[in-house]
Amino acid sequence: MEERAENLRDELSLTGVDGFLVQSLHNVRYLCGFTGTSGSIVLSSGRNFFITDPRYTLQARSEVKGFGIRVYRRPAEGIAGVIKGLGLKDVGFESRVLTYDTYRKLKRALPGVRLKPTTDVVEKKRMVKDSSELGHIRKAVEIGDIGFRKAEAKITLGQTEKGVALSIEEGVKKKGAEAMAFDVIVASGKRSALPHGVASAKRIKKGEFVIVDMGVSFEGYKSDKTRTYAVGRVSALHKKIYNIVKNAQEKAIENIKAGVAAKKVDVAARDYIRRAGYGRFFTHGTGHGVGLEVHERPAINPISRDVLEEGMVVTVEPGIYIEDFGGVRIEDMVVVRSGGCEILTGGSRELRILE
Ligand code: ZN
Ligand code: ZN
Repeated sequence: MEERAENLRDELSLTGVDGFLVQSLHNVRYLCGFTGTSGSIVLSSGRNFFITDPRYTLQARSEVKGFGIRVYRRPAEGIAGVIKGLGLKDVGFESRVLTYDTYRKLKRALPGVRLKPTTDVVEKKRMVKDSSELGHIRKAVEIGDIGFRKAEAKITLGQTEKGVALSIEEGVKKKGAEAMAFDVIVASGKRSALPHGVASAKRIKKGEFVIVDMGVSFEGYKSDKTRTYAVGRVSALHKKIYNIVKNAQEKAIENIKAGVAAKKVDVAARDYIRRAGYGRFFTHGTGHGVGLEVHERPAINPISRDVLEEGMVVTVEPGIYIEDFGGVRIEDMVVVRSGGCEILTGGSRELRILE
C-alpha cells in the first residue's frame, strides 16, 4: 500500500505541484488503508501525512502505515498546519471533493500557497487493480453470486420485489458481505423498464421479467451483476429482446482486451442492438470500472476516452427498456487481460424461467 503513495508522489513532481491534498475517502483508503469517515492526506516530496479528528485517533494508529498521523478537532486547521509545516508552495487538490468552505479556510490560513484544482489523479491510478485488490473483488463477486442463488429461490408468483431483496441481503450478509454495494434492484413487469428500479412492494406476476441488479462490498471492494429472469411463460417479444441483449453483451465481451479503446466495446454492443432495431431503447453506457466504488473509471460508453489496460475490472451490461412493457439487462464483471478478458461473475446468461 505504501507503494501507492510513492507512485503518486513521483507523478506529482512531474505535474508542477510540490504537494497534493487527497480528501476523497475512497482515495484515502486506497493510499493509506484508513476506513473511517473523516480523513485527509497531504503528500509531498518529503513526508506524507494523514489528518483526522479525535474520533479516529485509535483507528488511524492501527490502520494507517507509513504516514505521519495528525489529529485535529478541526481538520481544515490540521491540513493547513501540515502544509505550512512542510513549506509547500503549490498544492494540488481534488476539485470534485474539496468543499468551497474548506477551500476558503485553506486560502485564509495559507496566504502564500497556490491551490491547484485537479481531477481523477488517484482515480486513474485506481483503474488497474493489483493482486490484493483483485482478491477482494473476487471474494465480493463470489458472495454476490450466492445472493443471486437466493434470488432465484425466492422469485415466485405473488412474492414482492422487497421480499426478494430482503432474502438476498440476508443471504449475502451471512456469507460475509459488509454491506450492499447499492440498494438492491428488483424490478418486475413494467417496472423492469426502469434501469434503476429499486425493490418495491409490487408483487411478481406470471409472464413478467424480473431484473435483479445487485452487488456487495467486501474489504471495501464491490461487486456488480445483473440477471433478468422470466416468471412462467413470457411473450415472444420478451424472448426476442432477451436474446438481443445477450448477444450484444457477447459482442462487447469479445472486444475486450488490453490496448482497446473502451468506446469500441460500447460500440460493439450498441451497434448490435441498433441493427436489431432497438437502438433507442438502450439508454445507458455499456459498462464501468468497479473497485472501491461500484462506479469508477474506466467508463465504457460512447464518449469515453479511456483505453483498457491489463488488470482493469469492468462491467459489461447492455440493456433494452421498453416503457409500459418491460426491460432486460445482463451484467457481468470481467478482468481485462492482454489477449482478452476473464469473466469473474458466475452463472449462466441463458434466459432462466422461474415458476
Ligand atoms: Zn449493476
Ligand atoms: Zn453496473
